[in-house]
Amino acid sequence: MTISLKPFTTFNIQATAQHLVQATTAEQLAAAWQQAKDQAQPVLILGGGSNVLLLDDFAGTVILNQIQGIDITENDEHWLLHVGAGENWHHLVSFTLEHNMPGLENLALIPGCAGSAPIQNIGAYGIEIKHVCDYVDCIELATGATLRLSAAECRFGYRDSIFKHDYQDRYAITALGLKLPKAWQPVLSYGDLTRLSPATVTPRQVFDAVCHMRMTKLPDPKVQGNAGSFFKNPVVSAATADTLLGMYPNAPHYPQPDGQVKLAAGWLIDRCELKGFQVGGAAVHSQQALVLVNIDNATSKDVVQLAHQVRQRVGDKFGIWLEPEVRFIGSRGEVSAVETIA
Ligand code: NAP
Repeated sequence: MTISLKPFTTFNIQATAQHLVQATTAEQLAAAWQQAKDQAQPVLILGGGSNVLLLDDFAGTVILNQIQGIDITENDEHWLLHVGAGENWHHLVSFTLEHNMPGLENLALIPGCAGSAPIQNIGAYGIEIKHVCDYVDCIELATGATLRLSAAECRFGYRDSIFKHDYQDRYAITALGLKLPKAWQPVLSYGDLTRLSPATVTPRQVFDAVCHMRMTKLPDPKVQGNAGSFFKNPVVSAATADTLLGMYPNAPHYPQPDGQVKLAAGWLIDRCELKGFQVGGAAVHSQQALVLVNIDNATSKDVVQLAHQVRQRVGDKFGIWLEPEVRFIGSRGEVSAVETIA
């Protein structure tokens, strides 16, 4: 008997697994992994399933990482939180505000779990996990050995970390350590937040403004299946950005510390007039072009075909080739998202 994975990913696309295990401790997680390996089955570990596209039925065991718990300690300068990997991220953000430990408010309403946050170094409105991460606890699945990686060892980058590379298959994240400065500094550089006064603003006001922006602009996965930003913002050379700005002086662009320039993928897609563009049951969201939505029982093939069209149209018009931020999972594990939509 197979198990439907539809309830466990936010894209809400039909796919099944051979087995499903809900692990609430690191030991259970490692035991489920070992059992699957003993039976030569592939394993997929999911948190909130908010950044994955299941291309096919999964030919093995899916383990839901549901390790709970929030422990708080402090020193003179910081609140120190030890958070179980399966804690809901937005619940954690709300919890910290209710307990007067601000610092996560810009990251409100991001779907998914705390343990998944470091994998792609989640970020929004000027804050990324790397700014607040103290450590990440992992378990080596084959041996059950536990280890703690410092923030530096996580090698955080733009939507990237060691957990997408060297630590991708052999380790599972069991807990996230956060370090929130008691001397709170609001980050108000994005969107509506720029209208708030740094001198008087409260964490709650930032939280409310972020929630308002997200609720008015982004589709709620509970209502319309999606996996957030489907593509990464391209980071291009200064010369490429200059060429683009020569033709489109209003193109949003953000110089990076290394001299490269970040462009807004949503703007590029919108310029190709693709908002609302549909393939089968999948479409480019009508308000935020960076998000692909499941509007009517989309299949993974619909999403792949849509993503291909979007990438091709943007590439043809601008010479810039978008890459998915969403991770693609085939029947035996992760596959290259870029190659799948190329
Ligand atoms: P937006 O404000 O329309 O801006 C478009 C893009 O320009 C953003 O992706 C952002 O890059 C960049 N940007 C805007 N203001 C910037 C500034 N002051 N400095 C540097 N870069 C700036 O973006 P949005 O789509 O509504 O999203 C708002 C925030 O939520 C962004 O940070 C976005 O990344 C985040 N978000 C993430 C997801 C996801 O699934 N990963 C989904 C929705 C929103 P950055 O993305 O690099 O910040």
